[in-house]
Formats: sequence, structure tokens, C-alpha cells
Amino acid sequence: MRPLSYARAADVGAAIALVAGHPEGAFLAGGTTEVDLARQDVLRPGLLVDINHLPLDDVENLPGGGLQIGALARMSDVARVPAVVERFPMISQALVLGASAQLRNMASMGGNLCQRVRCGYFRDVTSPCNKRDPGSGCAAIDGFHRGHAILGVSDKCIATHPSDVAVALVALDAVVHTRGPGGERAIGIDDFFLLPGDTPDREHPLEHGELITAIEVPAVPMARRSGYLKFRDRQSYEFALVSVAAAIRVEEGTVAGVRLALGGVGTKPWRARRAEAALFGQSASEDSFAEAAREELAHAMPRQQNAFKVDLAQRAIVRALNTLMEGEAR
Ligand code: SF4
Repeated sequence: MRPLSYARAADVGAAIALVAGHPEGAFLAGGTTEVDLARQDVLRPGLLVDINHLPLDDVENLPGGGLQIGALARMSDVARVPAVVERFPMISQALVLGASAQLRNMASMGGNLCQRVRCGYFRDVTSPCNKRDPGSGCAAIDGFHRGHAILGVSDKCIATHPSDVAVALVALDAVVHTRGPGGERAIGIDDFFLLPGDTPDREHPLEHGELITAIEVPAVPMARRSGYLKFRDRQSYEFALVSVAAAIRVEEGTVAGVRLALGGVGTKPWRARRAEAALFGQSASEDSFAEAAREELAHAMPRQQNAFKVDLAQRAIVRALNTLMEGEAR
């Protein structure tokens, strides 16, 4: 039995001080992943600081059309906020498709960004895993890797990032606001997720004791015409094999703006910048969508069992954009 202490902090400052002051301290929000991993001996916190009661759960409109989503807002609550549904449907859809109702009611937005990978070897403490035990190796590379990443991989780790809503937030250039022992920071969400490289154990730039306080979503007018498409092995309660967050603006048949991000294929939520660049200024046609998708996936590094994701991701991009174009004159 490993000793584990529990504390409730009076305010944000006290929570940060408690975690920062304990070498094995960690924040506890919804706990939907963290508690499982502690039970499995994958995580070994010495102190859990409960932050669930802290006033970080509002969703506020920002001047100009953006949103400020509190880090402790629950997935289910954010998914049904009218401003989210109307102005950022890709966020609402990604949240609804992201987990069962029970999990959505518990899981926080900040915790969602920090959730750990679903690689089975990461959760099996008898297997080598560079992410859990740096330098021990990666059991997935020569093992079972059908669900693993094809973009952003390294020879140290090929695990996909599991979040759905993070894919939408990456497409929208969201900003992660934090507060820690060193003060406050604002981190562009694409920089918040780190590629595995040689240090797959480091997944984000948060320092010990640094807490996500809010997620800022800037105004993106084209996001009113956006959506989140998710392909998985079964229709519910499953992680993505491939997913696409997409928004498009078309003027006189030409792509005047587009946002694309992919889930289920990258070691981080994957902004499809090559595809976006290829589409801008092109005709809004299925051929253009397919060519842009091919350009994005040309850099994929699949392995034997997950090579199907290359074709699936290309088709998913085309399907997502075609769906948004339905009803629009080309
Ligand atoms: Fe660990 Fe990453 Fe390899 Fe999975 S893919 S075993 S998480 S190093």
C-alpha cells in the first residue's frame, strides 16, 4: 500500500502552493483518468489537491465574439452553452462525441487537455514504456499499434493524443491560460502539446504546481460553419481512429478560409497546416479537398498495423469538408 494524502485548497493560490510544495503533489479535478492511473500504479501521487470547488468553471463571452472557458467547466456543461453550440459547433460536437455522459459530467476542460495516452503498454506497468519509465523502451513499436499515431511520431513513442475537444481547440488557435509559482502564462494551444521526440514523458510545458485556469477561444467567424467528424471502431464510448475538426469559408466558389485539425493520427492534436495552405485560394471542390488531404498525409509515417489510417484520414478530411459544403453553391 502506497501512502496518499488528500487536501482541499481554500483558493487557487493555496492549491498551487500545496502542489508546488510537495514533490509528488498533483491537482485533482474530475479524476476520470487520474484516479484510474493511480489505482493501476501508473501514476504515483503522494498528495492529491482537490480543486473541484474552486471558482474556475464559468464560460464567458469575450468582446468580439470569443469565449473564455474556465478550466473546471465540465465537458457536458460546455457542450450545451448556446454560444458554443452556435458559434463553435466543432467544440460542442467534439465534446459530445468525446466520452460517455457519465464521464462528460465529471471531466473538466483543463483535465481533458492533460489526459494521458490510451496506449495499453503505458497502462501496463510490466511493459517497457518510455513515456511512463523514460529509457525503458517502447513496447508498441514492435507490438500492437493498430490505434497508434502516424504523424509526429518518434522512435521513442508513437502514442496518439486521446482528446477530441483538443482537436477542435487546436483548429481554432485557442490559448491556454495558466497560473503557477512563477506567475501567469498564456500558451498557444499548438505549443501546449509537445511532440514526443526524445522525451515522450514530457507531454506539455506545465511546470510542477502550474495550474490551467482557463481556455480562451478567439473569435473565428467561419467556425459557425464547422463540425467534428469522428471515426472509431464502435459508435460510442470509443477513442478516435481518425477524427477531423473542420471549418470553411467559401467566396464565389473559392476557399477564402479554412481550419483543419486531425485527431487519432497524431502524437498531439494535429493541425493540418499543409492541407489548409493547399486549399486556400483553390476551388471548393472535392478534387481540391482530396489533393489537400493527400498533401497533409504525404508526411505520415505509418507502421504495419496502422497504415490504414493514411487512407482513412484522407477520406475523413474530404467527408468533413463536403459535409460543410452541403447546401452551399460551389
Ligand atoms: Fe509508451 Fe508511447 Fe511506446 Fe505506448 S507508444 S509504449 S506510451 S512509449
